[in-house]
Amino acid sequence: MSKSTDELFKNVISHAKEYGFVFPSSEIYDGLSAVYDYGQFGAELKNNIKTYWWKAMVQMHDNIVGIDSAIFMHPKIWKASGHVDGFSDPMIDNKDSKKRYRADQLLEDKIASLIKEAVDEAKNKTNQKYNTRIELEEQIDNEKSTVNLFNEIVSGIDINAGEHRYINTPGGKSEAFNWFTHLILESDYFKKAIEANTKLNEHLKNEDLVGLKDLIIALNIKCPVSGTANWTDVRQFNLMFSTQMGAVADDADVVYLRPETAQGIFVNYLNVQKSGRMKIPFGIAQIGKAFRNEVIARQFIIRMREFEQMEMQYFVRPGTQKEWFNQWKEARLKWHLALGTDAAKYRYHEHVKLAHYADAAYDIEFEFPFGFKEVEGIHSRTDFDLSQHEKFSGKKMQYFDPEVDPETGKPYGNYVPYVIETSIGLDRMFLLTMINAYEEEDLSTEEKQDSRTVLHLHPCLAPVKAAIFPLTKKDGLPEKAREIMDKLKIDFNIQYEEKDAIGKRYRRQDAIGTPFCITVDHQTLEDNTVTIRHRDSMQQERVPADQLDKIIGDLVSW
Ligand code: ATP
Repeated sequence: MSKSTDELFKNVISHAKEYGFVFPSSEIYDGLSAVYDYGQFGAELKNNIKTYWWKAMVQMHDNIVGIDSAIFMHPKIWKASGHVDGFSDPMIDNKDSKKRYRADQLLEDKIASLIKEAVDEAKNKTNQKYNTRIELEEQIDNEKSTVNLFNEIVSGIDINAGEHRYINTPGGKSEAFNWFTHLILESDYFKKAIEANTKLNEHLKNEDLVGLKDLIIALNIKCPVSGTANWTDVRQFNLMFSTQMGAVADDADVVYLRPETAQGIFVNYLNVQKSGRMKIPFGIAQIGKAFRNEVIARQFIIRMREFEQMEMQYFVRPGTQKEWFNQWKEARLKWHLALGTDAAKYRYHEHVKLAHYADAAYDIEFEFPFGFKEVEGIHSRTDFDLSQHEKFSGKKMQYFDPEVDPETGKPYGNYVPYVIETSIGLDRMFLLTMINAYEEEDLSTEEKQDSRTVLHLHPCLAPVKAAIFPLTKKDGLPEKAREIMDKLKIDFNIQYEEKDAIGKRYRRQDAIGTPFCITVDHQTLEDNTVTIRHRDSMQQERVPADQLDKIIGDLVSW
């Protein structure tokens, strides 16, 4: 991570805290690792993101309905879904420091540092040969080739594809840059990184825990805290939180906090289908909390132990899943882009290694300051989950399809539907939205230095839609401002502020992303007009107060 992106990320995190968006949970007790609370503006922004998703799913599709299933579910559900036996990460402890790590993460970090060594070495050698540091830095920055390659390797994408793309970067590169890329590919560090990455992927695929430990030893990885290499064996660590239900604590009463919301949809699919007289294809949407005991949590609200998901399961006729998968893959990216985000910030990542239940899977990734990271997954889950629940519950999970198959001339009849899933992390979407909106804007003129921090949030997502300021605290201006506010607050979330100079009040609202600031002054008392100031352009205009609901409504309504 370059210094500036590192700084940007830190600044967004402190902004989120300073302005009431996100607080570390239990902060006065020094916090609880990987758990966060949303503050007064964070809760509003989160709700608005939920609304945007819910409307796009449920309101805009007459064949998708929403539910709200319980967090606690019958423990057998997690046996059937494969979570009890398979939802785990390989974990290793350092015997000296007593610190716990994810074995795959330690290896990924080591691979990343090998790549960095390769890049640094190649840079130095190229600089010595060509004496051309600036040009090279610029080209690396422009092309981001090394960064992309690095990300592809650590995130396990097919290295050959990465390498191929790397060698074939389009023409126009300086001789120095070509030499630099050549050196990386020839570097022993780089070769070691590729070899380690291949082995890591093989061990993970085969769940070879001994192999993972051997690789840690072979690469001479030291404990990041104590610097020793005194490791326990690698073992699988289940990510589900468990607790006891009822007064008597014995094994039979163990229940889990759900690690995904999807299972609540699967087990209710027939209830919804029958009570809603739904016909295939149809979808069930849900927003809710999920819990995972992540071994290491990092990058702020990217990886939390308690988080929220927005999931939709789309039930389709077997054989049509590919078509629906492609449709949903595209529809979901459009949903992201409709917020006005630069398309270059998004990319698809195809899963080469598929989960046992899937026959296709793509992630939608966003370019966070620390690199591309999954925000949403689109998975073709086959009939795996429903068939498993049929097996474990002993209840039929079949759907009767009365439509006539044109090939046989008979109804399709009974079958277990196939499922396409779209699953987005609300908290990651929240962070993406904050990062995208955040700007430290330089407003300096020749006369004076000035700047502001502004959140260019889409008006529909902005926590506060308009702020109302009486110019002064006297002459009946506060009363008039409150009178205007009382009318607007029925439809919009409005804030009233009378403290500090107007300029300061503008800055506070910029910092929380309020699209409009309305100032009530002495002229308002005469002609009932106000000034309205637009967040992004900072332009002000005078408008009749009774037009405010239309002006605000036009911009902030969905
Ligand atoms: P990752 O590979 O990053 O751990 P995942 O593939 O396990 O994610 P899914 O099980 O597909 O994630 O969950 C769907 C979405 O839920 C993810 O795209 C992500 O946005 C979100 N999500 C998953 N785990 C967490 C977490 N610990 N904290 C916050 N959001 C999460």
